[in-house]
Amino acid sequence: GATRDECSQAALDTGATTTFGIFNRNVTSWLTDEEIDQMIDAGRVFVAETWEELVNQINAQEYDGATINMDVATLEKTITEHNGFIDAGEDTQFDKDIKATHGKIEAGPYYAVPQWPAVHHTMGGVTINSNAQVLNAEGNIIEGLYAAGEVTGGIHGTNRLGSNAVSDAVSFGYVAGTHAITGTNPFVEDDIVDAVANTFSGIAQGYKGPVTVDVTIDGTTITSVVVADHMETLGISDKAIADLPKSIVAGQTISLDTISGASFTSKAILEATGIALTEAGLDLANYQTAFNMESTSELADATYDVVIVGGGGAGLTGAIEAASQGASVVVIEKMPFLGGNTLISHGEMAMADTWLQEELGIQDSPELFATDMFVAGNELAKYEVTLALAEASGETAFWLRDFVGVEFNPTYLGQEGGHSVKRQLLPEGNGVGLVESLKEKATDLGVTFMLETTGETLIQDETGKVVAVEVSSGDQSATITANNGVILATGGFGENIEMHVQYNTLWPDLGPSMLSSNAKGITGDGILMASEIGANLQNMEQIQLYPFTDPTTGVFFPIEAPNWNAEGHVYVNQSGERFVNEFLTRYHRAQAILDQDGFVYCIYNQEVADRLDLEEDFAENYEVAKNKDIFYKAETLGEIAEHFNIDSVALTQTLEDYNAGAESGKDEFGREIGLVPMYDGPWFILKGTSAIHHTMGGVEIDEVARVINTEGEIIEGLYAAGEVVGSVHGAERVGSCAVADALVFGRIAGDSATNLE
Ligand code: ADP
Repeated sequence: GATRDECSQAALDTGATTTFGIFNRNVTSWLTDEEIDQMIDAGRVFVAETWEELVNQINAQEYDGATINMDVATLEKTITEHNGFIDAGEDTQFDKDIKATHGKIEAGPYYAVPQWPAVHHTMGGVTINSNAQVLNAEGNIIEGLYAAGEVTGGIHGTNRLGSNAVSDAVSFGYVAGTHAITGTNPFVEDDIVDAVANTFSGIAQGYKGPVTVDVTIDGTTITSVVVADHMETLGISDKAIADLPKSIVAGQTISLDTISGASFTSKAILEATGIALTEAGLDLANYQTAFNMESTSELADATYDVVIVGGGGAGLTGAIEAASQGASVVVIEKMPFLGGNTLISHGEMAMADTWLQEELGIQDSPELFATDMFVAGNELAKYEVTLALAEASGETAFWLRDFVGVEFNPTYLGQEGGHSVKRQLLPEGNGVGLVESLKEKATDLGVTFMLETTGETLIQDETGKVVAVEVSSGDQSATITANNGVILATGGFGENIEMHVQYNTLWPDLGPSMLSSNAKGITGDGILMASEIGANLQNMEQIQLYPFTDPTTGVFFPIEAPNWNAEGHVYVNQSGERFVNEFLTRYHRAQAILDQDGFVYCIYNQEVADRLDLEEDFAENYEVAKNKDIFYKAETLGEIAEHFNIDSVALTQTLEDYNAGAESGKDEFGREIGLVPMYDGPWFILKGTSAIHHTMGGVEIDEVARVINTEGEIIEGLYAAGEVVGSVHGAERVGSCAVADALVFGRIAGDSATNLE
């Protein structure tokens, strides 16, 4: 019951080298049996059925070099007195405050834990005021400096009471963080009133939905900018949300460069800040000075065992595999965030021989999986490389779940066009959840990340072995040397218009008007770097369009889900007519959609949405699409037709024909999958268009991810994985095989780069 200081002092005063805590299970009900067992196993607790046995154990040990000689009779007397105090409700020896929860020590087994005071908390530190602002020796505020937690003095005096360290840390941490940004104390009433009076909000449209910004003004000075609400993609938008508000305050301006990869979010933050300033009655002309927050990071030469260029799916699994084998690993990523196309993907991955296939009794094999991919790709892939992916896929799925910690949907197993059986797994949280788990594991394993750093050139030694990568960041450059190997994991060239135009032979026009579903950094850099040192390129003309994407961005449409769930839905054109078998390959569907001249629509009904839990799983996506007026839901076919100006008579006829085909099994477009009739509303309609999605072409590799040159020889020291590779898919990258390819081959490349000479 005494303070920690008093207990410590009393222990030290004994002049001994240890004291003991004595208890039985009655008084330690707050510890689980498991915890007690762990302490016993660790040798930190003695346990015995009788007091004599307990004392024998105590006396058999040395404590800091000395034995002790405890007397059983005295111990038993002490315990009897203790029990008496509990009964009486009063401790006449040490005046302990006896509480109802204090138990008696009667029945064995008895426990003893040796204990001795140790330095625990340092109450002293820097002086702060109640806003967590640091004070100098004269008691004046040092502007711009805050302190919180154990670094401060003056909170606890001579004795920090138990459990007050964490409350100190979190409370003053919160005060310091708030005051540093807003100049107000969240617990001081006047400050709160002032802050509310001087805060103005602005709302502007970001990438996915509205972005709300709160701006606090003191006179004409912007004292704080906070993004209060948004629907932007985690990861991609992080830097814009964290850094732009600071730059606005530091530069007193809204004329700032957008953050790379997050230009929509950046523009929304700047625009919303402008709206708030206008709301505050300020003249925007006074907030237009160009400003650049100075970068404090220095780029320096460094050496690692494995150097990975590109931090998407392939780069991250490569990093995890290499680091888990003891290699030192760096991931060089040109964007301010990790994840690439993997981050914005749905995350689905086709893997053969997994737990879900076993549970559902689905017969699959690497050969069947590889054949599906090879045949769909018009046999233009290297079969042995496709087979290597299929062979390692099942084991990689288990590795992702059990070693990396990726959480998978426990029941979902999907099947997109091109697959003979259901084999696609779905990570919880889609691409964002997947990348989060990969990032966390790589971080735990000590992988170094160099963000906003671009891999520029591959450096070879005199034998031609790749030994380093020249990198740049802003106007700085450096050489990152690899002891073992370099992995290219830079993705495809979906965002590089010049390369589309240069290599396209299959599509009418892939110029600037064609949208792309890709992340901003996917510009073919790895292909260009590898080709500069003689790597062979394969299948470069094989550019895949995703048939049905968000027509405002070209990004994949998660609420088109019935299409990859073998479920009921139809595609119709502006005239309300079907024009294609909705389960043809992506190539044929995209061709058919481009032939429709403009937009097409995907239609399904409530029963389909309910069977797939779509409204629950994709509530946010429906809301975003509704805001953009590319999704509409209504009771009748007439209403959805009218909303998008489609001929409603034709649409009704189309659904009747579709249902007749579904009932007879004879679809007029030859469709056999997901031929489920749809009779009743409510109806869902989405507007879409085709966009560049995947580039199957890239560098040639062998089955262990070694890059091959134009002479057919291995380029020593260079490995490639993921969309940068041209050997895996041929003419068609089958749905859900991109993430599978990146993760499986990333891992193979990580292993090869660590172990191969
Ligand atoms: P994959 O699925 O093949 O792993 P992703 O698209 O997921 O491909 O990831 C590729 C990553 O590589 C992206 O995060 C992209 O920003 C990054 N990247 C592309 N070019 C470079 C480069 N020159 N230097 C560093 N990173 C790059």
